[in-house]
Parts: sequence; C-alpha cells; structure tokens
Amino acid sequence: MMAPESLLKVPVESLKGIGRGRAKFLAKLGIFVIEDLLFHFPLRYEDRTKVIPLGELPFYREGSFWGKVIEVTEIRPKPKLTILRVFIKDDTGSAIAVWFNQPYLKTAFKRGASLFVTGRVERSFQGNIIKVGDYEVLESGEIPRDYYKIIPVYPTTAGLSKKVLQKIIQDAVAEYAVMVRDVLPGVIQEHYNIMKTGRALKQIHGPDSLEQAERARKTLAYEELLLWQLKLQGEKFRKTEKEGFAHKMTGPLSRAFVNQLPYKLTGSQEIVLKEIYADMENKKPMARLLQGDVGSGKTVVAILSLLKAIDNNSQGVFMVPTEILAEQHYLGLKNQLEKLKINAALLIGGLSKKEKDKIKNDLLSGNSKLVIGTHALLEDEIKFKRLGLVVVDEQHRFGVAQRGRLLENNIVQPDLLIMTATPIPRTLALAYYGDLDFSIIDEMPPGRLPVETKYWPESKRTEVYNFIKKQLNEGRQGYIVCPLVEDSEKIAGEAAIKLFEELNSGSFKEYRLGLIYGGLPSSEKESIMGDFRMGRLDLLVATTVIEVGVDVPNASIILINDCQRFGLAQLHQLRGRVGRGEIKSYCFLMGSLRSKETQARVKSMLRYRDGYSLAEEDLKIRGPGDFFGVRQHGMPEFKVARLLTDQKLLQLAQRDASLIYKNKNSPENAKLISRAEKKYAEFLP
Ligand code: ADP
Ligand code: MG
Repeated sequence: MMAPESLLKVPVESLKGIGRGRAKFLAKLGIFVIEDLLFHFPLRYEDRTKVIPLGELPFYREGSFWGKVIEVTEIRPKPKLTILRVFIKDDTGSAIAVWFNQPYLKTAFKRGASLFVTGRVERSFQGNIIKVGDYEVLESGEIPRDYYKIIPVYPTTAGLSKKVLQKIIQDAVAEYAVMVRDVLPGVIQEHYNIMKTGRALKQIHGPDSLEQAERARKTLAYEELLLWQLKLQGEKFRKTEKEGFAHKMTGPLSRAFVNQLPYKLTGSQEIVLKEIYADMENKKPMARLLQGDVGSGKTVVAILSLLKAIDNNSQGVFMVPTEILAEQHYLGLKNQLEKLKINAALLIGGLSKKEKDKIKNDLLSGNSKLVIGTHALLEDEIKFKRLGLVVVDEQHRFGVAQRGRLLENNIVQPDLLIMTATPIPRTLALAYYGDLDFSIIDEMPPGRLPVETKYWPESKRTEVYNFIKKQLNEGRQGYIVCPLVEDSEKIAGEAAIKLFEELNSGSFKEYRLGLIYGGLPSSEKESIMGDFRMGRLDLLVATTVIEVGVDVPNASIILINDCQRFGLAQLHQLRGRVGRGEIKSYCFLMGSLRSKETQARVKSMLRYRDGYSLAEEDLKIRGPGDFFGVRQHGMPEFKVARLLTDQKLLQLAQRDASLIYKNKNSPENAKLISRAEKKYAEFLP
C-alpha cells in the first residue's frame, strides 16, 4: 500500500473521469498530479446561499436566482447573433434568462425543470432580463437543499469547461484533502487560531461561507509565505554562518577620502553608512541591500565601504553590470586611489591573457587591494589573499545565482553589499529580499532640479532637434537613445549606427557626435565614453548600454526614441542619466502612443519624477507579478498569497520565520525548515 503522501503525487490520469484528453488540458493549467488539483485555487466564488426571489430583482447588479422553466424561445435578430430566452417563474415573480450565441443550449432546458442562474439583471423593453453568466438545470422540480452552496469558480483553459473542472477538483478534494500533511506546527495554529492545512483546502474549495473561504485563503497564504520566508532565512543563514571579518577600524583611507569630496554627504548617506559600518565591524558577515533612487549617490557609499575594508587590510570587489560603468568607476577613482597609494585593478572582458594574469596574481598576492569589474569577475576563478567586501551595483542586472558566486570559495566569509535603484516598497522587499538586511537612501543630494519631461510626436522632431542644439550651444551635452530592438543589442547597434550616420551628416553635422553600443570593442567604448565625459563630444547616440549608472553631470538632455519599447523602470533609469548636477535638465520622449499601456507609462513619466511613485504606478499598470522589473529569475509565483493585499501576513510570516530559525534545531522547527527548503529547492532569492 502506498503512503497517503505519495498518493498525492499520482498522475491525474489515474482518477476516474480523467482521460488522456482532459489530462492534456489540465497540464496546460499546470496540473499534473493529484496534489496539483488540490492546489489549483478558485478565482472567485459564486454565492448561491443568497438566492434572490424573482420578485426582488436587483437591477443592474449581479445576483443568483432560480425558477421553473415556463417557456424557451430562440431569436436571431442578426445573421451572426442568436439569443436564447428562457422565461422562468417563482412564487414571487418572473424574469427572462438570456444567453447569447449559444444555440446548442436550446435543448438543455425543458419546461417544468428548475433552473438556477447567476448573472446581471437588466431592464429591457421586453421585460426583466438576466444576462446569464453561470447556470445549472435540475430536471426534477424543487432545488435540493444542499444546492444552496458557495460554488468556487476556477481559472480554466479553452476546451475545459468551468463545470467539468469544478467537478474534477471537487472530487479530488473530497477524497484526497485529508491526506495533505499539516504544514504549521501546533503552536502557530493555536496562536493565530487558524485551520489545519487539510481543512483549509476543503474550505477554500467548498466553503461554508465566504468568511470561511477567506479564512482558509489566509491560512494557506500564510503557510506559503512562511515557507518562503524560511527558505530566505536559510539563505541568510548560509551567507552569514561562516565566520567573517571584523572590520574594526574606520581608518586613514576612508577618512582621507571623505575629506577630499567636493560635497557633504547627505543625512541619508550618513545613516546608511552607519548601518553598513556597524555590520562590517561585526564579526558576522554582512548581507545587506542598499536601495536608493537613481542619482541618490550610492556610489560614494560603496567606495567608502570598500575603503573601510581596505583600511582593515582586506581586499574589496566592486562588481557592476556594464563595462562602461566599470570603466567610469575606475577612472573616477583612479586619481584619488593613487594619492592614497591603493593599487586598484579594472577587470572587464576583452583583456589579453597577460593583462588578466597580472590582475589575478596581484589579487592573489594581496598587492592589489581593489578590483572593479563586470561579470568577467565571475568567469574564471579569481583568488584573493583576503577578500573582505563584495559590492554588487545595480543588482537587478545580474542573475540571481551570480550575485552570490563571489562569496563562495573563501575561507573567511566576505561582507556583502548589494545595491539597487529598484524602488521596491519595504514590505515587498521583505518578500523578495528577506535574506538580506535593508538600508535605504531616501534623500537626493541638495540642489537637484526636477528633470523636465515631455512627450513629443514625431512631427515635432525638427523642433526637438533645435532645442537640443540650443542646449549644446550653451555648452551642455546630451544623449539620443535608440530603441532596443527585440532585446537584441546587435540589431539595436545597427539601428544606432544608422541614426548616428544620419545625424552626423545631417541635422547635427556642426556638432561633435559620438556613437556607442554594446557590440563595440571594449577599448572603443572606453575612448568614446572618455571623450564624452571630458566634454570632447557634444552628443552621444546610444543604445541602452548607457541605461544604468552612467554619470556625466554636464549632460542636460536626453531624447528617448520609440519610447513605447521601454518599460517604466527603463525609462526612469534612462531619464536618470540627466539631472545629476545642479543644471536644469530635460527628458524628451518620442514614439507611438498607440497602446494603452504606453499611454499610461508616458503619463506616469510626465507626472512623477521619483522612482517610488513610478513603481507604484507600474504596480497598477502591470500588477505585482513583474512590476518595475523586480521579478527575478528564480522567484516563485505564489499561488494564494497576494503580495499587495497580504502585506500584513507577509510581515507576520517574516517575523515568525526568524523566530523559528532562532530555534531551528527543535524537531518540529527542523521539520518545517526542511519542508521549506524542499518546496523552494529550485529557487534562489
Ligand atoms: P546612483 O545612486 O544613481 O548610483 P551616483 O552615486 O552615481 O548615483 O551619484 C549621482 C551623482 O551625485 C554623482 O555625480 C555624485 O558625484 C553626486 N553626489 C553623490 N552624493 C552627493 C552629495 N552628498 N552631494 C552632492 N552630490 C552628490
Ligand atoms: Mg549607480
């Protein structure tokens, strides 16, 4: 005999009434084994407990009704329209139930049968009609008592009717829900007075009341979130279990660097630095996320953290997503580092073997204290003498597995600082980054003017170019961004070349133009960015290679072509390339406004300047699944939990997970933790 647990893993085809054909439809819904049926949850419910008498029809609202079938007629007012009208009656009144374009139903309703319908009530010149959404016919006169139920409505797929799916799931729940192992320890169930898993499953699929349905949903959502949070706790534990360095001193290097800065740190920068420094001084390795909007000044925080590591005789890594950015950081620091006698290296793709070997040797011997680089840092084994701090900039650009890679293979665990401009609300951050501590820069450096953002139709291109020229004449610089084409840098590159040639010999022939795209050799990218930074170029025609991090404060204007091709997060990042100093800056959007989504995005861009508001708008436009480019490979999609409305549950789950982890060796907790690890085995936060 099979253990009940393993029965749940049996393919659905073994169930009565499910043949090959239905199994194929179920597979489309992600349902393969019996357990999947139990965890395929209703979208909504149809409440039949409140059947409304026909004498009390609620006009222009939804409701459930039943009556005896008196007459069935079909009309065809137009060639492509059939209307089926079923006249029904109860003791209090009557109505006409109406179906559109479903002629095959004609024979389904016999005079004298009982008909149950759910739908919207409307008044027409022919009488009171119910536009039927859902229905049921009962051949024999009266509706049986157990008919007054709350009926779950499931998401389904073409070819599998709601009713069939309902029946399949109901049957499975009746037989198998009892076999589902309880997830939560008794103490938690008692503490929150929540249901056992099996009961919650029964209630969510066949609730006694809508209140019970919601209680069941919350129970299952909490379970889901708790297991995920436990998985994150596990990740955090693994990141910090090993002994780390206590970077005690804030020594001469970091102090000298602060003193030479041409500006004062903002209050917010000071606060996050304190949080980071406290972590670094602790022997436990740091695992911290630093969030700050585009242009809020994260780089200097990273540098000061790296210098603190170096002050304590450790080495540091600064990993960034693009070569342009690596180069920029390296060049921006070079002079200062030389003054401080710190030997730093730049590691990007396209170095010769000799150059690379030298860098690797210097890092192994400890001769080099700092390496700035792209994911080239991950490509071959780089060994350090004493790696103390890893900073990952713009972490959303890295795969989830990548960001942890540098931490492996070190005897002593380095501190980890991850930086992002993705303005994820704090509560959502718990769901996504519960494996990290959290710091936030919520203040911009003083004196920044809002970037004036405008949408221009194609017909105004000449005017826009004239405006750009005016800016350039005043000694400013600008960017013209080419659309990314089907995510392919190669094709985008070709488009950029074409546009560059057009402008260089046409509208902008009097100006010094540069062209930059991903496919250029590293050395060329370097020299062009160098020229632009030094003011030797006026205007840069670019693909999205400049999207993140590029910092040229004299640039005051950016024109984004084909704006419909960019997501809101990208538009915001691109706009962040200007307005980085104290000069008035402009962001112009051009492109097609045909789609509603683009219209909504452009409107948000015109209206909001900070990433937080934009993220919230994006959430509304796209929902939490993929908002603001937050979703990462490897994040699970929750089946019951709704990240927006269940924030409170999420907080509870996070708190409870950390409590459970504190006592992780108790048998009950250990069981729960291993269950969490198993459930989310393939996911990395
Ligand atoms: P991001 O957070 O987007 O990485 P950066 O670190 O590139 O932003 O900083 C943006 C610009 O702001 C840079 O030119 C930087 O020199 C400047 N900056 C950073 N901190 C301050 C500050 N406290 N006061 C004035 N300017 C600052
Ligand atoms: Mg940056």
